Amino acid sequence: MTDHAPTLRPVRDTAVPDGERVAARCPYCERPFRSDHGRDLHVGERHDPTDAERERYEAALEEERDELWLFHAKAVVALGVIYAATVILYMAVLGTFF
Ligand SMILES: [Zn+2]
Repeated sequence: MTDHAPTLRPVRDTAVPDGERVAARCPYCERPFRSDHGRDLHVGERHDPTDAERERYEAALEEERDELWLFHAKAVVALGVIYAATVILYMAVLGTFF
C-alpha cells in the first residue's frame, strides 16, 4: 500500500490560468470566477446567502433558464433543418435513379 492513495475527487483548490483575469470572487470561500453571473450562482447554491445575494442568485438562475430555453429552441430548429435537408437530399438521390 502506498502512502498517497489516489484522490478520487478533484482538489478543491483552483488556479487561474495565465492570461485570464478574475472577474469575481466568492466572498465566503475566495473561489475565483470568470463572471459575476457564475459567482452569484455559486454563492446561492453553496453558501448561506444574504437577502441581496439571494436576489442576485434568483436573477442569475432566471437568466440561466432563459439561456437554456433559447438553446433548446435553437436545437429544435437545427434538428428540423437537418431533417428537411436529409429528406430533400434523399428525394433528389432517389429521383436520379428512378
Ligand atoms: Zn464560495
